[in-house]
Amino acid sequence: MADVRLEQVTRRFGSVVAVNNVDLHIKDKEFMVFLGPSGCGKTTTLRSIAGLEKIDQGRIFLGERDVTELPPGQRGIGMVFQSYALFPHMTIADNIGFGLKIKKVPASVMAERVNRVAQLLYLDNLLHRYPGQLSGGQRQRVAVARALVIEPAVLLMDEPLSNLDALLRLQMRAELKKLHHAINATTIYVTHDQVEALSLGDRIAVMKDGQIVQCDVPMEIYDKPANVFVGSFIGNPPMNFIRGEIMRENGQLLIKGRGFSITPSTRFTPILQGRSEIILGIRPENFRVQFHEPTDTTNAVRASVEVVELLGNIRLLTIDLSGSILKVSVEPHTAVNPGENVWLTWNEDKLCFYDSETEWAITPSRVSA
Ligand code: ATP
Repeated sequence: MADVRLEQVTRRFGSVVAVNNVDLHIKDKEFMVFLGPSGCGKTTTLRSIAGLEKIDQGRIFLGERDVTELPPGQRGIGMVFQSYALFPHMTIADNIGFGLKIKKVPASVMAERVNRVAQLLYLDNLLHRYPGQLSGGQRQRVAVARALVIEPAVLLMDEPLSNLDALLRLQMRAELKKLHHAINATTIYVTHDQVEALSLGDRIAVMKDGQIVQCDVPMEIYDKPANVFVGSFIGNPPMNFIRGEIMRENGQLLIKGRGFSITPSTRFTPILQGRSEIILGIRPENFRVQFHEPTDTTNAVRASVEVVELLGNIRLLTIDLSGSILKVSVEPHTAVNPGENVWLTWNEDKLCFYDSETEWAITPSRVSA
């Protein structure tokens, strides 16, 4: 078993709390992604698991072992970093085998293991070359091979694709996913790229200010962000947030905001009643856009199109709703021009509700680290 448990882990640098009381359980063979903006503590959390940072508080377990005080070499962890720093004067075979050599693994065993991972990563024809004779993607694969050859129970990767161009990133992303299925090591992957996180993670831990804000499967994080920060960070363009006041008219609850008034169905009453204000969250693709005034205008919101952008697979509309700017995506062949009036409706099942002060979701929290 190579599950990884963090119990109340804290790491400080002077007055900066880089990792703040983090509790997390990463399951055996799971692909966990740490996602968050620059400086939120992803790398420090990863380095703490590796033993490269001495934590100020808490415990770290790999399987049954408490590794908190163990040096990195004794933790059974493989690491791939953004700067993969291969030895330029060594062949690819020697670079890959380096970790085994310092562990004094016999030469025949070493050769067999180097060949095995080289095949897995399509490097078997390049073993005699030097790093300077490889492309960026090939060098990246060598860095992964070097980490895998020690047969780690846990593989840590810190932004391993960030030095690659967009196309190569895309290819390597798919290869890493395939590789994870082939080797089945518990993997922790750091990135600030939300697409990479959605694509690779079995679960994503979204971090902010040294804490895990939400930890869940990608679809839950996308559909039900735990707070406004997560909804803004994940999704391109991000989730739209609209503030509205909650009122009661003729016994019915209404949400009234700048330029709109809607009557939510009664199933939302438990969420809404007792509040004076709310933030509605809705993804750009969850609006329905009509270009003529609908016969039934209940819950149809009139707004005007400001900008139309063709992004290939969608047409992205920037819509002005009485001063609030919304991003709305429509089918790419939709005929629409700036200046047109539209009527927006949405599927209530796709609406998220946030507390207007704390900005946390009002529906039951999904934080389940
Ligand atoms: P990035 O995506 O930019 O790499 P990150 O989420 O990985 O960011 P960390 O590198 O973990 O963030 O840094 C978390 C916080 O700790 C930041 O405020 C950073 O400045 C601080 N920090 C990290 N390492 C050190 C250090 N060695 N000395 C002082 N402060 C540090």
